[in-house]
Amino acid sequence: MAKRDFYEILGLDKNATQDEIKKAYRKLSKKYHPDMKEGSDEKFKEVAEAYEVLSDENKRAQYDRFGHEGMNSQGFGGGGFSGGGGFGGFEDIFSSFFGGGGRRDPNAPQKGDDLQYTMTITFEEAVFGATKTVTIKKDVTCDVCDGDGTKPGTSKSTCKTCSGSGNVAVEQNTPFGRVQTQRTCPTCAGTGQEIEHPCDNCNGHGTVSKNVDIEVKVPEGIDNGQQIRLSGEGEPGINGGPQGDLYIVFRVKQDKQFTRDGDDIHYELKISFAQAALGDELKVPTINSSVMLTIPAGTQSGRRFRLKEKGVKNVQGFGYGDQYVTVTVVTPTRLSEQEREIFKNLADVNGETITEQQENIFDKTKRFFKGE
Ligand SMILES: [Zn+2]
Ligand SMILES: [Zn+2]
Repeated sequence: MAKRDFYEILGLDKNATQDEIKKAYRKLSKKYHPDMKEGSDEKFKEVAEAYEVLSDENKRAQYDRFGHEGMNSQGFGGGGFSGGGGFGGFEDIFSSFFGGGGRRDPNAPQKGDDLQYTMTITFEEAVFGATKTVTIKKDVTCDVCDGDGTKPGTSKSTCKTCSGSGNVAVEQNTPFGRVQTQRTCPTCAGTGQEIEHPCDNCNGHGTVSKNVDIEVKVPEGIDNGQQIRLSGEGEPGINGGPQGDLYIVFRVKQDKQFTRDGDDIHYELKISFAQAALGDELKVPTINSSVMLTIPAGTQSGRRFRLKEKGVKNVQGFGYGDQYVTVTVVTPTRLSEQEREIFKNLADVNGETITEQQENIFDKTKRFFKGE
């Protein structure tokens, strides 16, 4: 089933303000809350998901640009996007409004967020591999408190707001009367613990934002759009969970003379009339060095020659691609008197009657601007 548009789900248009989004969400989530009506679960989830995205300006911008496709962990952009499972905040919203229902343990170990970085590299770096250093701003574990968030020599204490339970009771007015629900304790965010003396270095967060240099080995043969994963180079885990990963997505610049198609290389070789008619032996560049290519007599423009295994080394180690050389026969544009005579004689020999034309003004102008 096709996913519905988030704006449509909330009954809003694209220009809706945050206030309108919030109002629509409150109205609809009450209407579809699973406790209110049998079988409204799916509707409720749909509304919550739409709100989760549209209420966050970053996610909303991503959604506006890429639609549902842009909301999985493959979103592009220069570094710092938080992936790792799309709608991580869903349960938080669920519990902050209503309590209960699929809440996760705030003290359980969680893997840190994945990061993504787009790296632009040259054609050569992609073909032959390289070692590069990138500077990425990311959260790292605070080394003063070791991620604990407390001032050295002090420790966490039981949260006074919730007495350590992590929940508080709230009453809400609904169309069905007053309902008492549990919600995550706002003081301790559900952990049941409070930091009375926060660490000065990280203000109790346990992490600090820092520019970190990371060495990236560009694999030989990597292609435009491909990515590598640097395990554990993402953001720190929570409650002792593992570090997230860093994904490096490669953008490869184009080369002036070679075009790449997977592991194959394409090259255009320009030859003259004489070379095409009489044949020749020519030096052709490849990505490694140059090779001699035999052009047989009578070669037509557009003919393609294959230089076996002269292409790019496969990034997964499956041999080498080929280089394809496509011949273009270049028609001479400015003939000397002598050349004109030779062509006329050639036509005579072939029994052709030629009505010679002057080069028209458009072609002449075009040639002028191309610098020929
Ligand atoms: Zn600290
Ligand atoms: Zn608390």
